[in-house]
Amino acid sequence: MYGNVPYGRTPTARPGPFLVRLGATSRRPWPVECPPVAVRIDVDAFRESVPTTVAEAAARLMGAGGVAELEPAGGGVQAVVHGRDGVFQPWIGIVGGLFTTDCDCGTVGDDLCAHAVATALTAFDAGTVFSGAATPPGAAPAEPEHAHYLHAVRRLSPRQLANLVAEHALRDRLFATQLLAEAGLLDTTDQTGLHDARAAIRDAANATTGSRWQISDVEAAGHQLATEIEILCARPATTAMLDLVEEAILVWDDFSGHLRDAYHITRTEPEEITEPLVDAHHDLCERLDLDAEEIDHRLTRLVERCHHDTIDIDTYTDLLGEHARTISHASRW
Ligand SMILES: [Zn+2]
Repeated sequence: MYGNVPYGRTPTARPGPFLVRLGATSRRPWPVECPPVAVRIDVDAFRESVPTTVAEAAARLMGAGGVAELEPAGGGVQAVVHGRDGVFQPWIGIVGGLFTTDCDCGTVGDDLCAHAVATALTAFDAGTVFSGAATPPGAAPAEPEHAHYLHAVRRLSPRQLANLVAEHALRDRLFATQLLAEAGLLDTTDQTGLHDARAAIRDAANATTGSRWQISDVEAAGHQLATEIEILCARPATTAMLDLVEEAILVWDDFSGHLRDAYHITRTEPEEITEPLVDAHHDLCERLDLDAEEIDHRLTRLVERCHHDTIDIDTYTDLLGEHARTISHASRW
């Protein structure tokens, strides 16, 4: 499909970012009900359409390495842009044949701000695919509660908001980790999070040592594992984290046998713990961009050591490609 879409400047008298042509014969905007189609972009025409002052400001942002966390979103791209006047999260995409932005500097629509232009140019360099029918972030239906909280946030001064956030971080370890990660203050060399998680997994693993444990201890240990792994995985991904998640999965696989044996008195289904642990493992394999062979190797080792079907290979089909078949066969033996 990508190859069939011609590119070039859409003939138009309107000066503006009208830079994609969405069909060989039609100059009308792509109909809304059409499935999103990747379009090629005439980068030179895009550059020419941007007012000089905006282009210069965008070049300064890019030159200072201000564009970070570029990622596809809603058929367009978004990034976090650090400028002299603050930090902004612009989104830019093609809506109705026009480059359209939604940036928290206040620019919304087809007047592009420097943050959005810097994001677009960085995305072009990175070869990011743009959809011909993107959805701006504000257009996606949010949960009513989410909208309600956003409304409340907008009524607070930056200082009130900052104090609320910092106080919440003091009470909630997961939130604190997410806050530090979003702010770019956690790096992959920092061992503190790993150390805490390792200690917590060892602690959980001891739930059944000795002869006086009860099934409720096993349930509590399972919830502790799931909580610790969630906090751990809010950090930037590392292979050491993946090793720890595997350790937690093995501890839980062992425990889940006790839960199944005592199913008539338990309050926790084994899946309540299994799912978050395996999801975290899958997610980390993806975030670390491991190749199928390495994932295959790790899963084969886990499947061999899990005796209660904690690892479901089908969950990994998207990451394994042709390797999927070899493991599922092996696991049946
Ligand atoms: Zn902006």
